Amino acid sequence: KIEVAALSKSFGDHQVLRSVDLLVAPGEVVALIGPSGSGKSTLLRCLNLLVTPDGGRVRVGAQSLDFGTSRALPGTAALAKFRATTGMVFQQFNLFPHKTVLGNVMEGPLTVRRMARAEAEPLARGLLAKVGLADKADQYPSRLSGGQKQRVAIARALAMQPEIMLFDEATSALDPELVGEVLNVMRELAAEGMTMVIVTHEIAFAREVADRVVFLRDGVIMEDGPARQVIDSPREEATRAFLSHFH
Ligand code: ATP
Ligand code: MG
Repeated sequence: KIEVAALSKSFGDHQVLRSVDLLVAPGEVVALIGPSGSGKSTLLRCLNLLVTPDGGRVRVGAQSLDFGTSRALPGTAALAKFRATTGMVFQQFNLFPHKTVLGNVMEGPLTVRRMARAEAEPLARGLLAKVGLADKADQYPSRLSGGQKQRVAIARALAMQPEIMLFDEATSALDPELVGEVLNVMRELAAEGMTMVIVTHEIAFAREVADRVVFLRDGVIMEDGPARQVIDSPREEATRAFLSHFH
């Protein structure tokens, strides 16, 4: 579960998030859409504290942090615990080039979670099978297609056994013919009940897979509702104007 209340963030004098409120129930899939520069990545990054909010409250799973007046920043341990609740997948895959696919997926469990090799390896192999890459375990990332790399990145995030998965334009860097295989993995995760926030320009995918669609513009949530309703018959003119670019 995610609860964001009155979240604000500025970079210099540019206010990028303006008192954002967002609730994501356990098992819910929320697609976050909006124009370039509207604050989608910043909002997602506030959920795992890659960006530190200026104000407001962020609750992710059992962890809650207040960025109110005290401006008390969490200590390293609290930060690590907070981050471990979410897994994040970026547009760029950021795999370790000198490690095999299996090594990439085992890295977090071994070093961060201090899992024994005998435990981490079957976990990693199971996740590679889940994303359809069991046979690539011993390859190096440079030998994989973009879609395969992104599926490794998803397996790597899942290996930390997060409660929530965050996707920031996970398919935007892929050749069109490779987008489907990554969306299929995301679709399966959604069907399994994973709580997910997905920043995407794949409107048809958002309509099909997300429970809710949230439209962000200029750091403000302009519309938030059931996926089909928001996409097929938006209430706000701003949402309609944005969606018209995709038809
Ligand atoms: P896109 O669709 O292009 O990815 P976005 O909705 O994800 O856009 P953000 O990346 O959240 O938008 O950026 C929102 C605004 O904040 C932009 O104007 C951006 O230039 C600015 N911004 C983001 N990160 C930083 C930063 N670290 N320092 C300064 N400005 C930033
Ligand atoms: Mg972005």
